[in-house]
Amino acid sequence: MHDNDLSAIIEADRAHVWHHMFQHQLLESRDPRIIVEGKGMSVWDQNGKEFLDAVSGGVWTVNVGYGRERIANAVRDQLIKMNYFAGSAGSIPAAQFSEILTSKTPGLSRMYYCNSGSEANEKVFKMVRQISAQRYGGKKSKILYRERDYHGTTIATLSACGQKQRAQHYGPFVPDFVEVPHCLEYRKQWDVENYGERAAESIEEVILREGPDTVGALCLEPVTAGGGVIVPPKGYWEKVQEICTKYDILLHIDEVVCGMGRTGEWFGYQNYGIKPDFVTTAKGVASGYAAIAVMLTTDEVFGMFKDNADDPLNYFRDISTFGGCTAGPAAAIENVAIIEEEGLLDNTKAMGKRLQDGLAALMDKHPLIGDTRGVGLFCGAELVADRETKEPLSEKLVQAVLGECDKQGVIIGATMRSLPGFNNTLCFSPALISKEDDIDRILDAVDNSLTTVEKSL
Ligand code: PMP
Repeated sequence: MHDNDLSAIIEADRAHVWHHMFQHQLLESRDPRIIVEGKGMSVWDQNGKEFLDAVSGGVWTVNVGYGRERIANAVRDQLIKMNYFAGSAGSIPAAQFSEILTSKTPGLSRMYYCNSGSEANEKVFKMVRQISAQRYGGKKSKILYRERDYHGTTIATLSACGQKQRAQHYGPFVPDFVEVPHCLEYRKQWDVENYGERAAESIEEVILREGPDTVGALCLEPVTAGGGVIVPPKGYWEKVQEICTKYDILLHIDEVVCGMGRTGEWFGYQNYGIKPDFVTTAKGVASGYAAIAVMLTTDEVFGMFKDNADDPLNYFRDISTFGGCTAGPAAAIENVAIIEEEGLLDNTKAMGKRLQDGLAALMDKHPLIGDTRGVGLFCGAELVADRETKEPLSEKLVQAVLGECDKQGVIIGATMRSLPGFNNTLCFSPALISKEDDIDRILDAVDNSLTTVEKSL
């Protein structure tokens, strides 16, 4: 089958590919979408139609945009020289990239390579359990996660899933994962002045209920992604940090989405001045040019797995087969160099502001927008049927808005299908290279799409 034989490719796809997050009956009435090419902010489908990609590869990944020959060439050169060796050996790009990335994360000096966000999060869960076993007689094994957060697709990460419908049918789950309340002020759970502090106190309440000496770690997204682009309110993070310190609880920040510049800082947590014990990141590490995820931690945590070398079990007994592939760090080195050389953190702040301001301004015109939120180029617009009651807009109408944007050649996202009350937030995460015209094109598409859908009501 030749690359250009598109009808054969579509038939092969239809016959054999099981697409992610997809109800395949839809393909009985239409062709699958095949993305054939990408350049900068744009992608082209099998029909040659150009789209502005406002979600960086569907799931906030391609931070530096498409068609970066520099990354592809670095990966090619590295693979020809030395593609892979796993186990306890290191590699040149892995050492180099570790030095580069840890220079951006003061306090987190040690990096562990693996393949996916889920896997990186599982590494932390295992470390927390091992620390509990070796230091606390197995007692401090509970891991807290937050309602509406997501940490991955494996059974352990789904045990820490704050979006219940995602986890539904996949149990039984792993024990000792405990949920704490979400902090979305738009959907208030407490009628108080200082909402951020109150939301953080709800974590303390869970800790006290469970018993502080049974809780090993707290795992949070810095800004919740798929759960509705939730920006924690003022005062939240300071209090969370205080609580973790008070009860000797390790703070794990899941930066799978927010990491690598998405929020205008290298990592989302750096917007809030907090000090995590673990950071996991994946999507933007190599902008999708190679599969790579990393877990970063402190000297202190690393030391716990290094001391007592006479104990044959006291090291991190974990491996990741493709953590030994050099394509990931080779791509990641160039990815970081591009972000630095092109000033993409500053650009993200400036373009993020334009997108956030633009979305907020659309509220004057469109009653369907209930709330807008965002940090850097990571934005959401929550759609409601009624601003007074905040009843979420139906799935059907949210899909209609997405469909209209698509018709206008702009791909945007929405929080997950089939999450009643959760699926109503439009998501925007264009590449960090976005220019003013790109942001305006996104805003125009949203404006026009909402007008069309509102007229149909
Ligand atoms: N954490 C967060 C916050 C995510 O959004 C995702 C993926 N959407 C993951 C973890 C899991 O990453 P992966 O799909 O690479 O396993």
